[in-house]
Amino acid sequence: MDKQTEFVLRTMEERDVRFVRLWFTDVLGFLKSVAIAPAELEGAFSEGIGFDGSAIQGFARVYESDMVAHPDPSTFQLLPWRGSTQGTARMFCDIRLPDGSPSFADPRYVLKRALKKASDMGFTFYTHPEIEFYLFKQPVVPGQVPTPADQSGYFDHTTTSPGADFRRQAITLLEQMGISVEFSHHEGGPGQQEIDLRYADALTMADNIMTFRVVIKEVAVMQNMFASFMPKPLSDQPGSGMHTHVSLFEGDTNAFYDASAEYHLSKTGRQFIAGLLKHAGEISLVTNPWVNSYKRLVAGAEAPSYICWGQNNRSALVRVPMYKPNKGASARIELRSIDSAANPYLAYAMVLSAGLAGIENEYELPEGAEDDVWSLTDRQRKALGIDPLPRSLGNAIDLMESSQLVADTLGEHVFEFFLRNKKAEYEDYRSQVTEWELEHNLPAL
Ligand code: GLN
Ligand code: MG
Ligand code: MG
Ligand code: MG
Repeated sequence: MDKQTEFVLRTMEERDVRFVRLWFTDVLGFLKSVAIAPAELEGAFSEGIGFDGSAIQGFARVYESDMVAHPDPSTFQLLPWRGSTQGTARMFCDIRLPDGSPSFADPRYVLKRALKKASDMGFTFYTHPEIEFYLFKQPVVPGQVPTPADQSGYFDHTTTSPGADFRRQAITLLEQMGISVEFSHHEGGPGQQEIDLRYADALTMADNIMTFRVVIKEVAVMQNMFASFMPKPLSDQPGSGMHTHVSLFEGDTNAFYDASAEYHLSKTGRQFIAGLLKHAGEISLVTNPWVNSYKRLVAGAEAPSYICWGQNNRSALVRVPMYKPNKGASARIELRSIDSAANPYLAYAMVLSAGLAGIENEYELPEGAEDDVWSLTDRQRKALGIDPLPRSLGNAIDLMESSQLVADTLGEHVFEFFLRNKKAEYEDYRSQVTEWELEHNLPAL
């Protein structure tokens, strides 16, 4: 038995833990959980816990439906809101087939494969997300416009406000689970919040993001509110993004930093950005996977709609923050497209693969955009070589369908499931006659 497994079993005893939840994520990004009794844990470590994969989105065709969840002891944490005596703990799982081989449907495995490729090239991949979401008053009724929990705006400080109390409780719980929070504040929309997690390697971070979503939803319910990660819940307010700062390290050295280069951005950093730009269209379905995602990516609300990069340019898809001299280790780039409802494992796998493609193939980075690209005309953008991001889920599906990079990174199984599922979602949406049409077309036509 390895040290981590021993630690888990000992902690279970000492802390009198009564339930262990085994967590994993389906292809669409929803968390799945099975609770086991402490007595089952040793068996779960040695043999895993079997389940019916055909009942999980994207996991299996029915004839190969037996799957086995293997808990990863390094992810053991108590769930602090379940109390400290007779408590509940959780671990993330890797999913395997009964013969012990990894399941190609497991998003964690997709990310592990991409990370392996990075490590073969000598790199470790770190991410730091800024996660935005809305708090609404209860009840939230499907089909009806929700009511924001407060009327504050960007960085507003109010002595007592639902948002401030919410953030304090949520951050306390996150920290108790070993997830460090760097910043938190009210965001631009009424009821909208942002919490930024301290950087970690991408696999830990993807696990952290899944935990984050649970904690945020739990705390909202405890405070009689509803938290939503929907990319654009309110037509006339900003959407919720998950801007992510990324960096590659070679050992202790930040591979994006070069003291003598323009913006202190190394050649590797430039190539990584070039990869993100070149593949931005085809990876959109993964970073922005819902019909609703494309309502966020419209001009003006600080979400990107054009494929370009710039130093400190918040209208660009990729922003290079100003590096502080002698802080080379914190050199990083910010990708602003990812939304708060993406599957973090798949999204980070795609972002990494796109960036690595830029390094492997030595892509040339186009000229940076220093203007507000939303305010340019189409003709001006064209002259600058700036293309739009996909404007709809349908558009994103078309782009992903012909992408070798996405097929290779997700693997055939996830790639095909994802396309099939998203086509069905888009067809269903497309066949709806919306309120907008009834308002604008019915009286006029
Ligand atoms: N809410 C904006 C988005 O959707 C970001 C706003 C900001 O962080 N400046 O991306
Ligand atoms: Mg921010
Ligand atoms: Mg923000
Ligand atoms: Mg940001």
